Amino acid sequence: MEDVHVHEVAIVGAGFGGLGMAIRLKQEGTDDFVLIERGDDVGGTWWANSYPGCQCDIPSNLYSFSFARNPDWDRAYPMRDQILEYLRDCARRFGILPHTRVGCELLAATWVADAQRWELETTTGPLAARVLVAAPGLLSEPSTPDLPGFERFEGNAFHTADWDHSDDLTGKRVALIGAGATAVQVVPEIQPRVGRLHLFQRTPPWVIPHTDHPVAVGMRDLYRRLPALQKLSRAGIYAIRESLAFGITRDRRWLKATELNARLHLRRQVPDPKLRARLTPDYEIFCKRIILSSRWYPAIQAPNVDLVGSGIAEVREHSVVDGDGVEREIDTLIYATGFKPAELPIAERIRGSDGSSLAEVWQGSPQAYLGTTVAGFPNLLFFYGPNTNLGHSSIVYVLESQFAYALDALHTMRQLGAAEFEVRPEVQEVYNEELQERLADSVWNTGGCGSWYFDRNGRNSIQWPGFTFEYRRRTRRFDAESYRLASAW
Ligand code: NAP
Repeated sequence: MEDVHVHEVAIVGAGFGGLGMAIRLKQEGTDDFVLIERGDDVGGTWWANSYPGCQCDIPSNLYSFSFARNPDWDRAYPMRDQILEYLRDCARRFGILPHTRVGCELLAATWVADAQRWELETTTGPLAARVLVAAPGLLSEPSTPDLPGFERFEGNAFHTADWDHSDDLTGKRVALIGAGATAVQVVPEIQPRVGRLHLFQRTPPWVIPHTDHPVAVGMRDLYRRLPALQKLSRAGIYAIRESLAFGITRDRRWLKATELNARLHLRRQVPDPKLRARLTPDYEIFCKRIILSSRWYPAIQAPNVDLVGSGIAEVREHSVVDGDGVEREIDTLIYATGFKPAELPIAERIRGSDGSSLAEVWQGSPQAYLGTTVAGFPNLLFFYGPNTNLGHSSIVYVLESQFAYALDALHTMRQLGAAEFEVRPEVQEVYNEELQERLADSVWNTGGCGSWYFDRNGRNSIQWPGFTFEYRRRTRRFDAESYRLASAW
């Protein structure tokens, strides 16, 4: 890689994390960076997920960059298309497109110690950079269970993250597996047009009524003329959401009001006590991600929907057989079965100082310091990394904290004339011990449910165990004393 230009920063992934970092770099006057994205457009998860009904469950005024306000949200909770348009607009508005290569997938990133740089192989050629920002997104690797006999299936099958728009499902017999955040959005959209919907629910979710509503044109005008008003709304939403973190991680009694809301919602919308029993969760609220929907219960009680609780025992050429041996003819099989956040393929492709990949070092249990830097991987900044996910608020807030930390790392390097930073292993270890201790009492770990917060070793490698303002405080400054710094050879 002799004649490849060495960028100051290479960013992998053009979702909220990678795009936001690119904007912040640009705003801070760093122009020598490249942003690569395997998809054909910017947008990350909001580009990839195009299933019907796709919507964010965090209000628009909070689920957006603080440095790129948008007075034009037309709903209290943004729909996927509008979020995607917002991100495209940000890329244009802040001059990020000339730095961006879409349709460019990272194949390998190797830390070359002698040259103190990252060397990247991508599907569109080699790249090199002093600092590597990995922003692959947490929910980017679909999880598709192996169903016995699936290879014989002659109908259409797809995952919600890879929605097949050529199959419009009208009049079809459809089996949909899953009852999580995605299924709850998809089902009310497709139920009116399918012939029959066999809904395979393994675990019922806690569902509260949705408070989504259109934002009046007058309100949008007001936001445009009085930006402070939108800021105030953002602060209010933030504060209300943050109070939930108290219940999730400190005192469960705080969550009782939400549980009552969910129980009343179920009682109001599902009159049949037998069905209600099948839809009542047997684990604590917030143990899995809470679901907002006023359309889920009505949709699953429609005459063309069949709620199946016994799982899929076998798939045949044109049917599925449930756990009770009942065979159901189907044309299309939809997996709303979630993601594998602890098994990201990018972890196999990034190799640190001793040649090991992140996946080899992590052994199924991702760990980092502040969810961002990893011992053995100099000059790597991982966004939305281990233990940074939230059960109550906007991930954009966490990402913006990581941007600040990353920018300060670059600034500190310049100031100290350093060419390398690498978190000290003992700092990373102590930090992770602290997190695991705090997570041990959380509703995720003790609420009696299984969830995607747990990796294959049974460790919660996903959730942040506190308030987001604590995370912000801890990442406000790049703490050089926690790092080994090295100057240029
Ligand atoms: P998920 O929450 O992991 O739900 C997956 C569903 O599939 C669960 O009901 C699960 O059942 C079921 N399932 C998985 N494997 C199965 C198997 N082998 N047999 C039967 N059922 C199986 O995934 P998701 O709904 O895609 O949501 C993932 C995350 O994406 C959410 O938690 C949220 O963070 C994010 N998301 C957000 C939004 C939003 O902003 N509104 C929308 C969609 C997704 P069990 O519960 O029994 O495991």
